Amino acid sequence: MKIDKEGLATRSVHSGEKSFGGSPHTPVFNTTTFAFETTEQLLDVVDGRTPGSLYTRYGMNPSIVSLEEKMATLEQAESALLFASGMAAEAALFLALGRRGVVCLGDAYGGTMELLGVQLRSLGIPVHFLLGSEIDQLGELLKKGAGMVFFETPTNPTLEIFDIQALAGLTRAHGALSVVDNTFATPVNQNPLLLGADLVVHSATKYLGGHSDVTAGVVMGPQNLLAEIRPWRKNLGQVLAPETAALLARSVRSLVPRVRWQNQSALQIAAALEGHPAIRKVLYPGLPGFPNHSLAVRQMTGFGGMMTLDLKTDLEGCTRMADALRIFRIAPSLGGAESLATQPVTTTHHGLDPAERLRRGISDTMIRLSIGLEDAEDLLADLNQALSRLKPGFD
Ligand code: PLP
Repeated sequence: MKIDKEGLATRSVHSGEKSFGGSPHTPVFNTTTFAFETTEQLLDVVDGRTPGSLYTRYGMNPSIVSLEEKMATLEQAESALLFASGMAAEAALFLALGRRGVVCLGDAYGGTMELLGVQLRSLGIPVHFLLGSEIDQLGELLKKGAGMVFFETPTNPTLEIFDIQALAGLTRAHGALSVVDNTFATPVNQNPLLLGADLVVHSATKYLGGHSDVTAGVVMGPQNLLAEIRPWRKNLGQVLAPETAALLARSVRSLVPRVRWQNQSALQIAAALEGHPAIRKVLYPGLPGFPNHSLAVRQMTGFGGMMTLDLKTDLEGCTRMADALRIFRIAPSLGGAESLATQPVTTTHHGLDPAERLRRGISDTMIRLSIGLEDAEDLLADLNQALSRLKPGFD
């Protein structure tokens, strides 16, 4: 049955699944190679005359192909390419399509900034980092020949929102590609390709995997662009293993209810914490007072499970609060069933010097929360008891 017009929840369960021997979904093809009856049949697949499985590192394995079909339908993309991690996906994407120069707009994951700022620059690829407040310089950089604009929205950890439609239009007008890292929003809450972006990338390690037990990445977009990325994946050996693909497919089938639950809990918790005497600011795009809330309403259908609290304390107080949490675990990732708390200054943005952190609006008193699948009331009670440890110190 071809599933492509149905709703997102239905597509995430059924799209791409291939039944073998009556199985309701694609089984794990834990094999590195595929055998043929004759050399002629093998050559038909090698030369692309007939579709078929051939060699797993090439991505020509049913466990990988079927999940790529499922992933593509989530973002309503023509196609998808799976990778062994989000960073593997980004590396292939930059090497294949970013060699004219990449502009990274706003805050991005620390690993992305290092890949761009250290490894890509070491290859002579021009890389520019622009803050959201410097967005007026983007046109000039594009005029000078940058070939790609890369950004996250919402960003990490300040949850800044960028206008995907406007940025995609500006970028295209200069003959460059716009690429959105949609990891924080997920395809449930935001579809950058439908807003005009050329490519979407995800760390599938986060919400797509959803259980903190899978490391994976995916790029989605039109076939002609993915055709340029595919040989890099093949020859850098970056493909996702079939067993991991099957585990990830299992997770994606429950993506929609998980993320909708997380949206609801996060909104409830953010609203309840706003105005708490120990909190300077709750950064969450779903709050009406959040900068660019109206833009978030326009381009997102839900506000996600990520938020950042800026506490009325110092670094030590912030650490004390984090250490007092009982349900939230202290860990640097996000998007799993279990709620996680992390201080950007000690994890994701530890490598930046303090002045640069300040310039990016990242303070020592921030704690980033990934809201999981527990009861929102329990999470709120946990946050409140941990915040109560700050009482003597806050101003
Ligand atoms: N993009 C974002 C927004 C991330 O948070 C991360 C990892 O934390 C990555 C990309 C890299 O993904 P991975 O850890 O799967 O390589």
